Amino acid sequence: MSELYAASLVDIRDRLASGQVRAEEVTRACLDRIEATEPAIHALLAVRPEALDEARALDAQGPDPSKPLWGVPVTVKDALATAGTRTTAGSRILENFVPFYDAFAVEKLRAAGAIILGKNNMDEFAMGSSTENSAYGPTHNPRDIQAIPGGSSGGSAASVTAMQCFASLGTDTGGSIRQPAAMCGCVGLKPTYGAVSRYGLLAYGSSLDQIGPLTRTVEDAALVFSVIAGHDPRDATSAPRTAPGPELLAGVQQSRHLAGMTIGIPEEFMAAEGLDPAVAEACARAQNLARGLGAKLVSVSLPHATRHAIAAYYIVAMAEASSNLARYDGVRFGYRSDKAKNLEELYTFSRTEGFGHEVQRRILLGAYVLSAGYYDAYYRKAAEVRRLIRQDYLKALEQCDAMLAPVSPVPAWKLGSIIDDPLKMYLMDIYTVSLNLAGLPGLSLPVGRAGSLPVGMQIIGREFDEATILKIGHVMQTVLGDLELPCI
Ligand code: GLN
Repeated sequence: MSELYAASLVDIRDRLASGQVRAEEVTRACLDRIEATEPAIHALLAVRPEALDEARALDAQGPDPSKPLWGVPVTVKDALATAGTRTTAGSRILENFVPFYDAFAVEKLRAAGAIILGKNNMDEFAMGSSTENSAYGPTHNPRDIQAIPGGSSGGSAASVTAMQCFASLGTDTGGSIRQPAAMCGCVGLKPTYGAVSRYGLLAYGSSLDQIGPLTRTVEDAALVFSVIAGHDPRDATSAPRTAPGPELLAGVQQSRHLAGMTIGIPEEFMAAEGLDPAVAEACARAQNLARGLGAKLVSVSLPHATRHAIAAYYIVAMAEASSNLARYDGVRFGYRSDKAKNLEELYTFSRTEGFGHEVQRRILLGAYVLSAGYYDAYYRKAAEVRRLIRQDYLKALEQCDAMLAPVSPVPAWKLGSIIDDPLKMYLMDIYTVSLNLAGLPGLSLPVGRAGSLPVGMQIIGREFDEATILKIGHVMQTVLGDLELPCI
């Protein structure tokens, strides 16, 4: 494809920097692509009308080599605050919320010269695995309009895959970057907890939430990650480390093989019930590919990570959600019901009308597991299990440099098919949630197909060792080439 919008981010960035294309042309190409694809996929909740003017202003100044994303159009999940642009987190309760500041990661994108085209659709407050929980209607998978795009960053994955933009920022609390990337067939990086500041992220589960890029290539993910990573005193859990810088991309681009690497295969993951045979086969082929590229494969064990991860994750995530979402009270900001006759009714009606069913379910369950008398049985237990899961991962990563595992047990399912069965939806997160409990980084890479739908695998790494998983992903992606999946 020769259209501008179809280039990789690194490629278009280089063409912009050398003056071969102008920022306005590239932005216009993406806006046209949005117009052509958006009616079918609904990946965006807002398109910024200022984008074209911003591109023209950049062109007037000329390329700036100090800005690694100069003139590159990107989109951002609607969970991240964007100054002057409506930010809803997919919720009715924030339908009129226009932040006056940028999230740290958005600030970084703008400072690097990127142009924010718009805000991506998402499950309300990032709670979901299919983007069907958005108060503004679901996103459709650009590979198959009848299928879910994954979630909760389904709008981000669909937008990148449909080539509306060159990258998007998503958030991952229990898989929400990796799983939609796998469902749509793009790349998604969930960084180590603490690597990217959460300042300006509308919180879901604060001890689990991480921001990261969705892109079409691993190189692109490395570049965006190097831009958004780094210490930020406004987030108390931001790691006091220096940002990776341009060496990260250079190191990834220079990687040609996997010789000298040991890659662990978590045995319980491959043996888990419910793993679709077509997904298992694509994963087995990817493992063989890694071996063929020189990696030594070893079997590793994560005894707690499949058996107890879903239960522990949903207790911790809901507990934190119930606390984080207490701030939406109809008084300070967000939706306010006009039916209330007293203060208590104001809280009750505003929250009942403003939050969707899934969010209400989680607030209730979260408050329950934290309540006196149940705290020890549920929350404390889950926190203990969390520690065991992390220990499993740390032990396994002593035996290998990285691990290769499925992302989702099944390919993208049909829209509407399991939305009425929350437990079934939660079980779909079996392979992703444990990584958030452990705080480790994971890269989701498309490795094959099940029929016409993509299959992704995650490459799991050591703490703050995004470089290794990006190198492995890049080497594998280079050999896999174009998977020739259909796309709108
Ligand atoms: N599907 C998981 C949940 O609903 C993960 C969501 C996420 O990572 N934001 O909690």
